[in-house]
Amino acid sequence: MKTIIEPFKIKMVEPIRMTTREEREAAIRKAGYNLFKLPAEDCLIDLLTDSGTGAMSAEQWAGMMRGDESYAGARSFFRFESVTKRLTGMRHILPTHQGRASERILFGVLGGPDKVFPSNTHFDTTRANIEFGGGRAVDLVDPAGKDPTLIAPFKGNMDIAALERLIAEVGPANIPLGATTVTNNAAGGQPVSMANIRQTRDVLHRHGIPFFIDCARFAENCWFIKMREPGYADRSLESIAQEMFALADGCWMSAKKDALVNIGGFLAINDDDLAARCRQMLVLTEGFPTYGGLAGRDLEAIAQGLIEVLDEEYMRYRIRSIEFLAERLVAGGVPIFQPAGGHAIYLDARRFLPHVPAERFPGQSLAVALYLEGGVRSVEIGSVMFGRRDPDGRFVGAANELVRLAIPRRVYTQSHIEYLVEVILEVFAGRDAIGGLKFDFEAPILRHFTSTFLPA
Ligand SMILES: *Cc1c(COP(=O)(O)O)cnc(C)c1O
Repeated sequence: MKTIIEPFKIKMVEPIRMTTREEREAAIRKAGYNLFKLPAEDCLIDLLTDSGTGAMSAEQWAGMMRGDESYAGARSFFRFESVTKRLTGMRHILPTHQGRASERILFGVLGGPDKVFPSNTHFDTTRANIEFGGGRAVDLVDPAGKDPTLIAPFKGNMDIAALERLIAEVGPANIPLGATTVTNNAAGGQPVSMANIRQTRDVLHRHGIPFFIDCARFAENCWFIKMREPGYADRSLESIAQEMFALADGCWMSAKKDALVNIGGFLAINDDDLAARCRQMLVLTEGFPTYGGLAGRDLEAIAQGLIEVLDEEYMRYRIRSIEFLAERLVAGGVPIFQPAGGHAIYLDARRFLPHVPAERFPGQSLAVALYLEGGVRSVEIGSVMFGRRDPDGRFVGAANELVRLAIPRRVYTQSHIEYLVEVILEVFAGRDAIGGLKFDFEAPILRHFTSTFLPA
């Protein structure tokens, strides 16, 4: 087999500003050792997130020019609606400005005190929108998904027995809907099998509970189903996606992921009554039903992106490039969350820096080291993000100390990935000399965004 190449050529380039180690030392000190506070221009390879950071195609940019900006009934809306309806099979499509706007509308209508929402794992904005209304968000990922070293095909699956127990415990009347997130972003970007999605639907429907899909990375999930689940090897990604959506009563999407655009989202619903109630909320806070929170040009770009993301040559390149990164790291002895996720690699900082205790933030220390070594910006998902203090002010660490390297879509080439491997292996070779960090300023809420640190 020949090398899997990027299935595109480059029409427009954006320069990367090269920096020296001295410049990076000054920049990270100025940023208080918090990578969120770095100007993007000071990052050579920016892997902070895969959300809204992708590159659009020539056809998407052409669509931007064709965008119909009529207030009501714009041609661009009907194109967007026909593509999303064909994909999801849903009767009602509501455009929103991004994923969390869909969540706020849906859980604003269905949520409330005493309401319980099970999921394989809620993404943080989903959880926040459920909890904002007083509801309870319950994560029920299969136990296999919690073991960072286990190699298994579908570690994003729902724990079906736990779902049954939860329904028995709280009663179906208190569960307005159950959801599955594909791929499971908050749990290592791991995929969910079609069989598990069907079982989840069956259990929920047996109790009269609607089933929704948080489909931000639906196409990556469909690729894993095609590669790993018996019976799907010869099916097109589109037909796998259609089979998956046909199991659901609705879905919501952050188009900033698998719709290959920089902003956008939608909420798709089958039930006429629920759709009517959501549409009222849409008009209140997003916009008229045929544009929602978006411009006509954005609707065009999403419609085109949803077609392009199902191109198998694109997906083969994307998943292979991330797998290649994982293989090279594992071969070099670097501890990572196994197997590689659909959109990211997660370094296991606890095993990478065993001499740095949780209260000295091994994930943050590793992220800073990657930046100093090669200008790589990653994100800590550990005790800075999820650690807390108990009522006596004592430090309580997070369950895992991870560093996520999220790969933007169609932005970096194979040589960028090879550079990344070199940087990580170099940092791994010098890991014994990496010290921990302590808070300089500890922000009271969402502390990973604004806290600052000092070398400990
Ligand atoms: C990004 C994301 C969201 C939220 O979408 P935004 O566009 O960032 O508001 C919801 N669910 C999942 C799984 C996501 O990855």
